Amino acid sequence: MKHLFYFILLLLVVFHTPEKSFAEESVKITNTLNVRSGPSLSSSVLQQVHSGETLRIVGDSGEWLKVSLGSDSTGWIAGWLVTTSENSDTLSVVEAVVSDLQIRSGPGEENRVIGSTKQGETWQVSKTSGNWTAIHYHDQIGWVATWLVEEVSNQSEQKATAPVKKEVVATILNVREKPGVNNTILTQLPSGTVVSDLKQVGEWSYIRYNNGETGWVDGTYLKETNKHLSTSTLTLLYHSINLRGGPGLDYPVIAQGAKDDKYEIVGKEKEWYEIILNDGTTAYIADWIVSTGSSLGLRANHTNGKTVILDAGHGGEDSGALGLFTYEKLVNLRTTKAIAEKLKDAGIRVILTRDEDRYVSLSERTNLSGLYQADAFVSVHYDSTVDPTVSGITTYYYHEDHKSLASSIHNEITQSNSLRDRGTRFGNYYVLRNNSSPSVLLELGYLSNPFEERQINKQQYQANMTSNIANGIISYLNKNR
Ligand SMILES: [Zn+2]
Repeated sequence: MKHLFYFILLLLVVFHTPEKSFAEESVKITNTLNVRSGPSLSSSVLQQVHSGETLRIVGDSGEWLKVSLGSDSTGWIAGWLVTTSENSDTLSVVEAVVSDLQIRSGPGEENRVIGSTKQGETWQVSKTSGNWTAIHYHDQIGWVATWLVEEVSNQSEQKATAPVKKEVVATILNVREKPGVNNTILTQLPSGTVVSDLKQVGEWSYIRYNNGETGWVDGTYLKETNKHLSTSTLTLLYHSINLRGGPGLDYPVIAQGAKDDKYEIVGKEKEWYEIILNDGTTAYIADWIVSTGSSLGLRANHTNGKTVILDAGHGGEDSGALGLFTYEKLVNLRTTKAIAEKLKDAGIRVILTRDEDRYVSLSERTNLSGLYQADAFVSVHYDSTVDPTVSGITTYYYHEDHKSLASSIHNEITQSNSLRDRGTRFGNYYVLRNNSSPSVLLELGYLSNPFEERQINKQQYQANMTSNIANGIISYLNKNR
């Protein structure tokens, strides 16, 4: 027994390396910072180093790095304020999943708030520590809670090399959401269709087809061709349509199009088509206000002159449901404003019952229906219940003849939504009962379900959901012109 003890001790002595080797590691300074005499903020400041300098790392202690200052002297710098050569190649980029994420001076809620980031803004990661992620926030390092950010894929990786033009040689070729015969079929392409082969994974090819959409096909049914990509055009459905500088409502309007104008499509990003203007430059247009060769032409233009009231539930002292980090009143407002923008871009007059975080009584909300002779009233909510596993989307109506508005919207939402479909139901709500316009109340998922709360706050999720709701309203208005 004693021999075994000495043997283990020997192993420890032989294999335990007391210090990591820092021989090849250096640190690039991106911001003026203090070099201290020891590894803590209370140690005295020896000197300052400035942006652009590179220091050699000779040791570390906790979050601190020991650096060489030349001529045998060393000092300590805060490891969370710098990027080391070791991790600089693998830096990832994150974006916040909530609309207002606080950025702190250190890893922990006790640290000072130094700023905030909006959803969709991306930040380069410096390092992570426990549940906290350090980001390069302007010219300093800020810390955000890791569970409230999401890694976004590296932009440069998505830029594929020049795509190869290929022709479909099968009679009908299924285009799927993901590679594999069991995955959802997005569409079918007839023989002879020319597509761009963007990349191959095994036998599967990731292609761009028709109007810039992408999907996966069995690559054995494609052969290289010199034919041009089957060009396709889109047609504007409404008057005064905004053509923007980028794929989103926050990009500037660079031109306007009129109803029935046609443009050639050269690409698609999320829900935006990239089109060629007459002068040869490109612009972006939202996919919910155009028709393309492949669309069923459902969304013909009968929406001009229509009025829709959008009601963001709760507000002010009435917070509505509470999630772990979400106030229902705020996410209702965000969703409502996004739907409003999409409807306005389709030529519909939109009235909001509130456009800021304030209290509005239920009767004030429903009175607007009569005042504006609205064609539809849509109240936006998120659900909550005591059981954190309950999930899904419900659409409520009160009057039987408002059921068609409910199903128009509900069908659009649930078609491409991963949340559970709880159906359209009768609901005895004030805003439905006392409403002179066709009215529905949407419960767009459960904030009391942590998984669903996270989903709901995602930018992409909101983008899809609000497009679907806008499309549902538009298709209802078309049917009831
Ligand atoms: Zn609510």
